[in-house]
Amino acid sequence: MIRRMASDFDVGKALKLVRERIENAKQKRSKSLPQIEPRLVAVSKTKPVSMVLEAYNHGQRYFGENYVNELYEKSTSEEILGQCPDIRWHFIGHLQKSNVKKLLKVPNLHVIETLDNEKLAQMLNSSWEKMQKEIRLKIMVQINTSAEESKHGCEPSQSIPLVSYLQKQCPCLDFVGLMTIGAYYSDPALGINPDFQALRKCRDEVCQALGLKTEDVELSMGMSHDFENAIEEGSTNVRVGSTIFGARSFPNDSSSSNSEQSAITDKV
Ligand SMILES: *Cc1c(COP(=O)(O)O)cnc(C)c1O
Repeated sequence: MIRRMASDFDVGKALKLVRERIENAKQKRSKSLPQIEPRLVAVSKTKPVSMVLEAYNHGQRYFGENYVNELYEKSTSEEILGQCPDIRWHFIGHLQKSNVKKLLKVPNLHVIETLDNEKLAQMLNSSWEKMQKEIRLKIMVQINTSAEESKHGCEPSQSIPLVSYLQKQCPCLDFVGLMTIGAYYSDPALGINPDFQALRKCRDEVCQALGLKTEDVELSMGMSHDFENAIEEGSTNVRVGSTIFGARSFPNDSSSSNSEQSAITDKV
C-alpha cells in the first residue's frame, strides 16, 4: 500500500465526488422506502486534524471516529475547537465501559452509533443524566447482521428487547436508528449485500413491535466500497473514510494486518 502524505490527497475534490455519487444513488432508491436525505459521515480515524479541518472547510460537518482516545484528542484540539464550531462527531467504534466517561466529555458529540447491550445503555443513561445536558444523547443500536465473530453488535433477534429497554429504562437516551458494519461484500455487482436487507428487516420488526414510524428510525450502513448500494437499499447515514481521506496505514491498530479488510472489523 502506498503511504500518502496528507498534502498529496485532495480531500476537497474527493468529498465533492462522494457527494455527487450519493446524490446519484439517492435517485435510484426505491420509492417505497422513506426518502430521507442520506447523511455523509466522514470517517477520519487515523487521519490528522489538518485533514479534518480541510474537509470542514469544504463544508463537511459530520465526522466519525472509532477510538475514544483519538476522538477525544481531536475534538478537544485547539484548532478544532477554534475553527469548527458546528462540527458533529459520530462515535462508530466498539465502546467499553471504562471509556464511557471520556467519550461523553467529547465536545459536540452527536451520536453514538454502536450501542449493543443493556449494561452499556444503563451506564450511558446515568452518566448523561449526571451531566445535566439539555438534550438527550442520540443513540443507534449496532446489529451484527452478518453473525461474524469478529464484529460487535447485538444479534438481530435482540434488537427489539434492546430498543424497548432504551425507550422504557433510559429517559436520557434518544434512540434514533440501527447500524451495521456487515460482511465485506467485495463486489457490489454480484447483487445487493444481504446485510443491508437484514438491517432493513430489523428496522421493520422494531417499528412494528414498538409502534415506531419507519421514518423515525435511521439506518446507518455503507462505507467506501459500498455506500451507493447502501443508499439504494435505504441507508440514511453512510460512513465513508478512505474514499475521502485516502488509504489508512493503521498506526494505532498494531494487532491487525495492513489490509483493507481489517479496516472494517471494529475490534480494537
Ligand atoms: C473505518 C470505518 C468506516 C470507514 O471505512 P472506509 O472503508 O474507509 O470507508 C466505516 N464504519 C466503521 C464502523 C469503520 O470502523
